[in-house]
Amino acid sequence: MSKRHIATAAARAGIAKDPAYAAVTPPLYLSSTYELTAFQQPGAYDYSRTGNPTRDLLAEALIELEEGAAAIVTNTGMSACVLVLQLLTANDTLVIPHDCYGGSYRLFINLSQKKQAFKLVIVNFQQSDWSEQVRLAKPALIWLETPSNPLLQITDIQAVCQLAQTLAAKVVVDNTFLSPILQQPLLLGADIVLHSTTKYLNGHSDVVGGAVICADEQVGTELAWWANCLGLTAGAFDSYMALRGIRTLKPRLQLQQQNAAKIVAFLVQQPLVAKVYYPGLVDHPGHGIACRQQQGFGAMCSFELAAEVSSLSHFFAALDIFTLAQSLGGVESLICHPGTMTHASMDATAQAAAGLTPTLIRLSVGIEQDSDLIADLEQGFAAVAKLNGLATTQAAQNNESLTLNPALNVLW
Ligand SMILES: *Cc1c(COP(=O)(O)O)cnc(C)c1O
Repeated sequence: MSKRHIATAAARAGIAKDPAYAAVTPPLYLSSTYELTAFQQPGAYDYSRTGNPTRDLLAEALIELEEGAAAIVTNTGMSACVLVLQLLTANDTLVIPHDCYGGSYRLFINLSQKKQAFKLVIVNFQQSDWSEQVRLAKPALIWLETPSNPLLQITDIQAVCQLAQTLAAKVVVDNTFLSPILQQPLLLGADIVLHSTTKYLNGHSDVVGGAVICADEQVGTELAWWANCLGLTAGAFDSYMALRGIRTLKPRLQLQQQNAAKIVAFLVQQPLVAKVYYPGLVDHPGHGIACRQQQGFGAMCSFELAAEVSSLSHFFAALDIFTLAQSLGGVESLICHPGTMTHASMDATAQAAAGLTPTLIRLSVGIEQDSDLIADLEQGFAAVAKLNGLATTQAAQNNESLTLNPALNVLW
């Protein structure tokens, strides 16, 4: 049979793979240890930190989805980051984007400054001279996160990988914001893909987990060794849950993305919104690259509230459906204020440099009814309008430059 479609691979993650009883849904192996066949004759598994059948099924599914050669399933997204950093020594340089995930940023800064674990160079991949900046840094490893958090900036993965090859550098892409359904970095030339499975892959906000998928089997073996050595591997139950979540990845994302497009179309017409960040908008600076390297624009968007910072609490308090919480990618819609929540570990200067304004709001759009989500946001804007003595929040005249790409839902 020819290679199965990614949608099929996701729907059948772990299905019909039980060698013991032919269970259709995979069993959950909670045992921490495994009996030897006989003295000095170990079986396929010995100890669960080193290897676990349930976790291996998840790794196998991720290898197929990302089209890699090896995968290591870790207990958090951050431990996936820690694992990839084991490829570096003190004299190596790591290049990171200026606007990467706050937790990753904190890890890179502290490991390089307090532990001298590697040299760190921060590059703004949105600037026209990014390739010159990368070349000068002479990196061993280049870290990418695209779309970025929370401004959804897009980096050209293929262009960075081509440059990396001339520099003998490896490229790792944090693919958490899109999942392999919407972006497959290894096919664009990346060496390693990283996930916080906490987000879209699990998709139900009930697991914290991570994964590293490698294009090269040897790199995978090296990282699997480190994962066992450092104790970064995921527990069986979390692996079971993530595997279960992956089976609905495609339909979840499809609906979430469809809802996000409708919300963005609403937000661009809202007078109390100063700016909307979504790669599906034709005037988004990364729109063209997103069309090339992504299979859809995703279900994350952010916007700047055109009001005083003091309005924020009123806006959030007026919402009934959007839950004010960190994290993203679950079936439930979440709303967050990056400045005080997800990106609080960045100081004010770093926040400003990353373009995080004080009234920036980020949405993780879920699978609820689209009209309910829009009505909920309308309540929020009405509360802010009332506070500011504005008569109406009715839609402004359509701004021509802010039109959604009609290809938005066709890219599937
Ligand atoms: C959440 C997140 C992480 C960290 O993952 P955890 O599972 O929270 O440890 C890393 N990168 C990105 C882009 C994330 O959104």
